[in-house]
Amino acid sequence: MGEPKTVHSALVTYTSVISLLTLCPPFVILLWYTMVHADGSVLQTFEYLKQHGLQGLKDIWPAPSPIAWKLIACFGVFEAILQLALPGKRVEGPISPNGNIPVYKANGLQAYAVTLVTYLSLWWFGIFNPVIVYDHLGEIYSALVMGSLVFCLFLYLKGHVAPSSSDSGSSGNFIIDFYWGMELYPRIGKHFDIKVFTNCRFGMMSWAVLAVTYCIKQYEMNGRVSDSMLVNTVLMLVYITKFFWWEAGYWCTMDIAHDRAGFYICWGCLVWVPSIYTSPGMYLVNHPVNLGTQLALFILVSGLLCIYINYDCDRQRQEFRRTNGKCLIWGKAPSKIVASYRTEKGETKTSLLLTSGWWGVSRHFHYVPEILAAFFWTVPALFNHFLPYFYVLFLTILLFDRAKRDDDRCASKYGKYWKMYCNKVPYRVIPGIH
Ligand code: NDP
Repeated sequence: MGEPKTVHSALVTYTSVISLLTLCPPFVILLWYTMVHADGSVLQTFEYLKQHGLQGLKDIWPAPSPIAWKLIACFGVFEAILQLALPGKRVEGPISPNGNIPVYKANGLQAYAVTLVTYLSLWWFGIFNPVIVYDHLGEIYSALVMGSLVFCLFLYLKGHVAPSSSDSGSSGNFIIDFYWGMELYPRIGKHFDIKVFTNCRFGMMSWAVLAVTYCIKQYEMNGRVSDSMLVNTVLMLVYITKFFWWEAGYWCTMDIAHDRAGFYICWGCLVWVPSIYTSPGMYLVNHPVNLGTQLALFILVSGLLCIYINYDCDRQRQEFRRTNGKCLIWGKAPSKIVASYRTEKGETKTSLLLTSGWWGVSRHFHYVPEILAAFFWTVPALFNHFLPYFYVLFLTILLFDRAKRDDDRCASKYGKYWKMYCNKVPYRVIPGIH
């Protein structure tokens, strides 16, 4: 009875994996081309491709130039050195399915501050002009697309040949292993954590660096920065600052604690984040919309509020787990479920599930302010074109899918206790609707 369904869903996973592998690279290049050379108009790019076909795509695809490789290498090496060398508190990650406890050095905020101060100083003192980065953006993305594929291949081989811990394994299928990854916590040596590098120090850091780059490019082109660009950049930078402030908390989330290091997460962080996540700012460089003080402030404050609520949701869950439920949630003792589960080794363990505060509003309420924050740093682009909103659309699909994946995982981990949580908090993401 079960088999045809299993075969069918394996086939669906397989085909979606293949289509994502082949469609993502051209999409990144087309997005850059449309933003920078086609006025942000999808229609204009579509007409161009209709006329010129595959040869047209080849013609606009920038070659990864030596300068692009040099910029990426300088940035990557700089971030790797900061990750290894800056001091930071010793932090333990959550216990893995195989009972390992990864240890990290929490120096993300220091690395973030050093990166931005260095980048701005290089510009200020005339040593390096960030405009060079913007002017070679297509070549940089092209290099990232290629380089990251090779990097994911390295992860695949490392998973087979030299896994860093027992949290590793193969599904027996090359495509699935390459896509979902082999290792949960791959490291080079004992201290260089690859996922911290790809997700945080390369991906999230490049987002901040590019947001600043777009601002500087507009300033150098027009002699001023428009209020729309300012609102966009400030909101993005506040969001990224929050991320690095809370980086050790991120190491307890699904990306690090559950998702293995493969194309899905690493290529996403190395290519998708610097291109798609930064795209509203990329659009604004050539579209200096003037919002006026009132509207600009309204958007800014709304965005800040969403970022704060998203942070507070994550904080509540982590504070609750850290104190073993002995904390106050919205001024009261938290309501909770003591959920037991069996590890892969057959041991019985317990986790606490918070059922009050934000986690009593819906089971993944934190995704709502996350999506709204992205909307608020995009809306300064106004509504002339759809493409700046692509990130908001992508994020909505990603997070709704993630909520389902997490629900399924928790249901199989906690069984009847997860059912109790679902009975108490019936909505998955949007209270009263979904
Ligand atoms: P979460 O922080 O939502 O963690 C989910 C895990 O928390 C579950 O797997 C479960 O793990 C535990 N959990 C679930 N329900 C409860 C509960 N009621 N009480 C206590 N613990 C619970 O994971 P995410 O990684 O999805 O989100 C982290 C942050 O990252 C969010 O702010 C999110 O918005 C953001 N994010 C941003 C993305 C982007 O691209 N911009 C993408 C993804 C996330 P366990 O097994 O330990 O019980």
